[in-house]
Amino acid sequence: MSSTVPSPARITALDVLDVRFPTSEQLDGSDAMNPEPDYSAAYAVLRTDAGDGLEGHALAFTTGRGNDVQAAAIAALAPHVVGRPVEEVCADLGAFSRSLVHDPQLRWLGPEKGAIHMATGAVVNAAWDLAAKRAGKPVWRFLGEMPPRELVAQVDFRWLSDALTPEEALEILHRAEPGRQDRIARLLERGYPAYTTTPGWLGYSDEKLARLAREAVADGFTQIKLKVGASLDDDVRRLRTARESVGDSIRIAVDANQRWDVQDAIDWMRALAPYRPYWIEEPTSPDDILGHAAVREAVRPIKVATGEHIANRVVFKQLLRAGAVDIVQIDSARVGGVNENIAILLLAAKFNVPVCPHAGGVGLCEMVQHLAMFDYVAVSGTTEDRVVEYVDHLHEHFVDPARVLDGHYRAPALPGLSAQMLPDSLKKYAYPDGPVWTARV
Ligand SMILES: [Mg+2]
Repeated sequence: MSSTVPSPARITALDVLDVRFPTSEQLDGSDAMNPEPDYSAAYAVLRTDAGDGLEGHALAFTTGRGNDVQAAAIAALAPHVVGRPVEEVCADLGAFSRSLVHDPQLRWLGPEKGAIHMATGAVVNAAWDLAAKRAGKPVWRFLGEMPPRELVAQVDFRWLSDALTPEEALEILHRAEPGRQDRIARLLERGYPAYTTTPGWLGYSDEKLARLAREAVADGFTQIKLKVGASLDDDVRRLRTARESVGDSIRIAVDANQRWDVQDAIDWMRALAPYRPYWIEEPTSPDDILGHAAVREAVRPIKVATGEHIANRVVFKQLLRAGAVDIVQIDSARVGGVNENIAILLLAAKFNVPVCPHAGGVGLCEMVQHLAMFDYVAVSGTTEDRVVEYVDHLHEHFVDPARVLDGHYRAPALPGLSAQMLPDSLKKYAYPDGPVWTARV
């Protein structure tokens, strides 16, 4: 007789792919600091021997050169991942994410910042994709139906407790618990508000800007965004053009992508003020908390927003404690994945600051919509003054692409984090050997 106990399913591989899109050729995505990005993904796949056909997919976003460095950082985490029981990883993603962050040698490369932290984010997000697929739910709903205590267990409170304790986090989540099912129903019906950056890239002509701005309003968006910071005269003209195109009731945000010193930011925003910009995004270095506070003080009532380059929850804590921002912009692929973004959403809720996630790039819309929807269902409980960025390109490469209708992200229905790309796209855009790239040399 056979008494062999079947061994538990394990993670058998962490595969990493370097995928790049030659977006610089159209100037899509051009801004004051990134004039010619090739939107790229350091793409991670967790494979298992569970026999259920499920894999965990996620990515770190880069703008081209350096995507190989990012891919190498992800690969460096493989020893922490390969061989681990699938069930154990998926049952405690908080412990899983902490085990990656606290590698005693790799943490020297951070700690919790830069390529190594983004690598953690990619692997943690891939594990969430796998866990949600196993649960048969999209991540927003997987999180939105999780008991408050379990959500709190996802968060690493190290270095946070002076601003947010586990007890306070639990209280925030308990407060939002009663309306969860109603809000899920409303999300399924209406979706989550979006704004579009499509009209506002720096490389576009005034004509194209005006046309795309009018189209955005016709498509149901109530907010658009313009890139600024290369030339003041051009920006005054472009913002005036945009304001004339969309009228008074549409919010226009502007985004300097860190271009300015503090005083430049203040002077520039005063010059743009007559055209009523709603927020100034990334006015200066993402590390300059006191600089953001100074800009905020000087440019009121224009709001200050930042976050897409904020390295981790500790810096978000400082921004909030210093009163340096009006709007927190989480990014799905900058910090240590879903777990750290739960921490940041809770911090923002504690300080009563709205979260308007950063997206665009490749795969960022797909992933971050889940976090915004979770915030609405289970954390802040509101979409008031909250919008998720939307840029309409590269979605065709995804199995479950982000869909925006009438200015709202539709709630994803397929299980997982929506980051999985089509096999054909992964092959064609593989760098440097995929056919799209070999044809260019
Ligand atoms: Mg931005």
